[in-house]
This record gives sequence, structure tokens and C-alpha cells, in this order.
Amino acid sequence: MGIISKGAKCNVSGCDKDGVRSLSTSKVEGTGLSIPAGSKKTVLCKEHYKEWKKATKDEREVERARYDRF
Ligand SMILES: [Zn+2]
Repeated sequence: MGIISKGAKCNVSGCDKDGVRSLSTSKVEGTGLSIPAGSKKTVLCKEHYKEWKKATKDEREVERARYDRF
């Protein structure tokens, strides 16, 4: 996570907050976050990391949520 300690900024377009997490770009694609193509790593700020986690979690937990509620 070297680039984070150098003060990398969030890669989401329009966002200039400090990055807290560096992820493979392929893991961020398809979650609705607007990130630049072509780089291997994507840096996310706290807020966008939360958004990313929520987006990936939703996909996985749709089935389970259904069982929990009914
Ligand atoms: Zn951000």
C-alpha cells in the first residue's frame, strides 16, 4: 500500500480527498464508481471505499438478505 502513505488522492472522478485504500482497478470496475481506465490500482478515499464496499456487499448478500427477512 505504498502509494497511500505518499498521500495519493482518491481516483474517483471529481473527488480529491485523501486515499485510504488501494484496490485492483478490476475490482472497482462495475460497481458504479467512476474511475480512470488504464491503471492497475485504484485509490479510494474513505467515503468511496465505503461506497465500494457497499456495492460489492449488495451483490453478494442479496440472497442471504432474502432469507433473513422472510
Ligand atoms: Zn473519493
